[in-house]
Amino acid sequence: MKILISNDDGYQAPGITALYEALKDLADVEVVAPEHNNSAKSNALTLHSPLYVQRAPNGFRYVNGTPADCVHIALTGLLGYRPDLVVSGINNGANMGDDTIYSGTVGAAMEGYLFGIPAIAFSQTEKGWAHLDAAADKAAELVRRLLPSLEGAQIRQDPWLLNVNIPCRPASEIRGFKVARLGRRHAAEAVITQVNPRGDTMYWIGSAGPAKDDVDGTDFHATQQGYATITPLQVDLTDHDRLAYWAPTAAALSGGER
Ligand code: MN
Repeated sequence: MKILISNDDGYQAPGITALYEALKDLADVEVVAPEHNNSAKSNALTLHSPLYVQRAPNGFRYVNGTPADCVHIALTGLLGYRPDLVVSGINNGANMGDDTIYSGTVGAAMEGYLFGIPAIAFSQTEKGWAHLDAAADKAAELVRRLLPSLEGAQIRQDPWLLNVNIPCRPASEIRGFKVARLGRRHAAEAVITQVNPRGDTMYWIGSAGPAKDDVDGTDFHATQQGYATITPLQVDLTDHDRLAYWAPTAAALSGGER
């Protein structure tokens, strides 16, 4: 079995080293990750500047691009083989609810999924790398469980994408895994302005909002209870329930189909 690891915090982040160490004995593992922190880069691809790949002393390869760039070039030529699984993380902080739209950790995993490869995004629910060993153990436990299912033609036609959040706790206080849907956050906090030494106003994107939908069944709720959450993600953003609602509007516009 072959596993490709990436992340969005950069190839030097403790989270990707911990994930590599936890998985390296389970399969042939290679790391291709961003050179710098690319958190909140979602699925962005770099189209207007060249990408360079370099190899760090520990064998990790790093790219002057985004998480999706890393997985994209790994799968389309750099690796020279097709991995059985793409994993991303372990992220420095939660990727729950609408975080998943912005997350580069999820973006890296999603890039694998879009190429038809099963993929998992791993995040710790709090920043700071406390209890990272416990989170890495949990990640390895899940991967070990899933690896046997990755053989065969079926998975190549029907890959999956999992978003996993692991509570930032000692191993003895993590209560196991639970499947959960995404919750929702309130809108982000206000932008923060500062003035630079030349008198120009600088804008800093504010923090993500607190949880708004964190009822039983959500990732927010389950992680708060001490569970590691597994959320299967899909990529189709179509609001299928509202297709019919918008049909008359389309029909009423010029050239619309009546
Ligand atoms: Mn990150």
